[in-house]
Amino acid sequence: MNNAPWNRRHVISLADFTAAELETVMQTAVSFREVLSRRTKKVPALQGLVVTNLFFEPSTRTRSSFELAAKRLSADVLNFAPGTSSLTKGETILDTAKTYLAMGTNLMVIRHGESGVPDAIAAEMDRLQTGVGVLNAGDGLHEHPSQALLDLFTLCMALDPENPSIASLKGKKIAIVGDILHSRVARSNLWSLSAAGAEVHLAAPPTLLPPGFAEAFVALSPIDIPRPIVQHWALEPALADADFVMTLRLQKERMAQHLLPSLREYHQQFGVTCDRIAYCQPQVKVLHPGPVNRGVEISSELMDDPHRSLISDQVTNGVAVRMALLYLISVGHGTDGLEG
Ligand code: ASP
Repeated sequence: MNNAPWNRRHVISLADFTAAELETVMQTAVSFREVLSRRTKKVPALQGLVVTNLFFEPSTRTRSSFELAAKRLSADVLNFAPGTSSLTKGETILDTAKTYLAMGTNLMVIRHGESGVPDAIAAEMDRLQTGVGVLNAGDGLHEHPSQALLDLFTLCMALDPENPSIASLKGKKIAIVGDILHSRVARSNLWSLSAAGAEVHLAAPPTLLPPGFAEAFVALSPIDIPRPIVQHWALEPALADADFVMTLRLQKERMAQHLLPSLREYHQQFGVTCDRIAYCQPQVKVLHPGPVNRGVEISSELMDDPHRSLISDQVTNGVAVRMALLYLISVGHGTDGLEG
């Protein structure tokens, strides 16, 4: 698989990412993974640049991971938290962004509960010809591209740790199980896994996976999706012979109505457990973007099984992948100049 030259200033969605661009991110992340294994885990790539984390919605791992990634690249980092900010005094989101722009921000990492906010800020930054790059760190139900890219990297590493590449994902069966309707992680993963040539199967109760969801998704695609996305309203057919299972959190904060009889019943029907992964390939591995509702979407036993669970690897890989994104957006020259 060949890399593509990088020419994006913003990463808002993975919908139009080509396989070659995904590979560029993977290979850049490989270089940064190597940097992170050194005694001195820092390179000067973003020295003198300011990265601002604008998180209008709570986050544990994504915010910390972007902060560490920026620091490992020697950037100066500003963190915005809405509770203690002038938003509580009525300042608009765009004015908040412009305040950080006036402080010399070069890259904005944005999370918001409403879909479209990172895109709106990116458009304003372009309109003002600021040269600022915007990274979507999760917007509403829309997308969470850095999570899907770290998931992709984790899959590639699990398949071929010596030579991770999206080429190894071709034809692999990946089951995505859980609250697909409310998951921005699932949406970003659908784009990247499909572009990588994986065979994606979705499983959830019909209230969390409406009929026609996959067809509508494929119909929206700006690129050719080489394989159909298959949806199931039962767990077993999705798990059958799967190479990987991605479990998703029940997003209770986004459920307007009662979409499930009870968490216990949900776990009985769709909870991924050590017993149920017997339907999968013997070497199956399980992922979860976190935070996890233990014993609901995944059993504690499976989550903590070091032979099956890639959940800690996802968190570790997140730093290298986010370094790759910050680097590509600001420097844009692939993997040159990482020594030092
Ligand atoms: N951390 C992920 C997100 O922000 C997944 C989740 O919250 O369930 O979308």
